[in-house]
Amino acid sequence: MKKRLNIILAFAALIILLSAQVYVISELYKLRNRVFIQDYGAEILDAVNVLEDNTGNNPLHNVYIELNRLASDILFDIPDYELQSDSVKTDVIKEFSDLLNENEQVTESLKLYLNERNLDSEIKTFFYIHNLKLLNFNREYPIFSDTDDNNLFTQNPVKKNAIFLGRYIPTYDYFRMEVSYYVDFNNRKKIVIAEMSSVLIILTITLCAVLFVYLRTLRNMLKQRKLSELKSDFISNMTHELKTPLSTIAVASASLALDKIASDRKKSKELSEIINRQNKLLNQMIDQVLDISSLEKSGFTLSKEKVEVKPFMREIIEAFRINQSKNEITIIEEFDIEEGFVAEFDTYQFTRVFNNLFSNAVKYCDQKPEIRSGISLKPGFIIFWVKDNGIGISKDDAKQVFSKFYRGNLDLNKKVKGLGLGLYFVQRIVQAHGGIVKLESTPGKGSTFTIELPLNK
Ligand code: ATP
Ligand code: MG
Repeated sequence: MKKRLNIILAFAALIILLSAQVYVISELYKLRNRVFIQDYGAEILDAVNVLEDNTGNNPLHNVYIELNRLASDILFDIPDYELQSDSVKTDVIKEFSDLLNENEQVTESLKLYLNERNLDSEIKTFFYIHNLKLLNFNREYPIFSDTDDNNLFTQNPVKKNAIFLGRYIPTYDYFRMEVSYYVDFNNRKKIVIAEMSSVLIILTITLCAVLFVYLRTLRNMLKQRKLSELKSDFISNMTHELKTPLSTIAVASASLALDKIASDRKKSKELSEIINRQNKLLNQMIDQVLDISSLEKSGFTLSKEKVEVKPFMREIIEAFRINQSKNEITIIEEFDIEEGFVAEFDTYQFTRVFNNLFSNAVKYCDQKPEIRSGISLKPGFIIFWVKDNGIGISKDDAKQVFSKFYRGNLDLNKKVKGLGLGLYFVQRIVQAHGGIVKLESTPGKGSTFTIELPLNK
């Protein structure tokens, strides 16, 4: 429960961190954008000033003359009363706006100026008319005012990031208007982002690092949780397993103390054998647990020797048969190598490997166990395999059976004793020899464990 809370907290922290990053980036973008507008704005205002100085008068003078001609034509063509109508007014302001925006020559000059200074010259300009009146001698005809609420004509909206260059109030014979001039850089976004690139790269790297650490921590946490669950299972299994032989010993030794039994040679011999056997079992179990801690500390120390493989395998099988004499088991040998074939491995450890595999084949079987033990060769390798007709292993379990303390999730497992260490040792021992263990299994049909051991020439 607490762990889940931790995971949720960690996740929330990650989300907060991510949002913080996004926030920082967007703020930085806004800031950079403002700086861009300031810097480029200053440049372009300089340009406008230079232009005004050079021409000696207003650089827009030519287009104003054309507008004046347009105004006089309109006044000449259109009767007074029609100039009051909304539709005519709308046409007039549209014509003014279009003529102004299409024929002004300032933009070209600005581009030249920017080019000379190696600044980005892809600009878009826009004249916005705030109000317009036509004049005829002493008469005024109001055409447009952006403070009027009921304007039918709306000009292209001025872009949010456009740079304001100035407001002019030209008054000529036939018109007076108030107009603002804006310029926008087509590549503004690109330039701003390029200027942010170093920061973006650093932020991305930091983010990746944080994500990496986060995922690793999460994985470790889950692993730890799994391990601690397995450990507590192991401890309860272990105590359970220790208890059985201990109570047998307790009963047997108490019986030995009875006069009636002490006098019966045969009975007391039987009892002492039981005690002996249980003692041996206890020892084996304790050894296994000790092994695992020493294995963890220092790894295996192998004492390899050259062994004739067939007789070695036969001996293990024979010993196993004798051990399992209570159970009705069949072990079929399928040895596909020459009689005197020699390989090099640690016989003590390999005996453990096969005992583990054989005992699993018997333990996890719900019918008469039939085990096939095979040996064969492939270039550079000797292959051992143990095939059973047991209950099989599911895909999920197959991924984990080699882990320390892992016991399958089966009902049968509750009845069958085990510490979940057998296959872990099998794998560690084979790996220490430079080999690999493979598992193939079909639930309900049986399993095959294959050991591939490199042959040292
Ligand atoms: P230990 O061997 O330490 O006494 P164990 O037999 O439970 O205990 P492993 O030998 O490591 O531990 O096996 C792990 C699990 O893999 C078993 O609990 C069982 O669920 C499953 N398993 C192993 N061998 C077989 C098999 N031949 N058929 C079906 N399931 C198997
Ligand atoms: Mg086992």
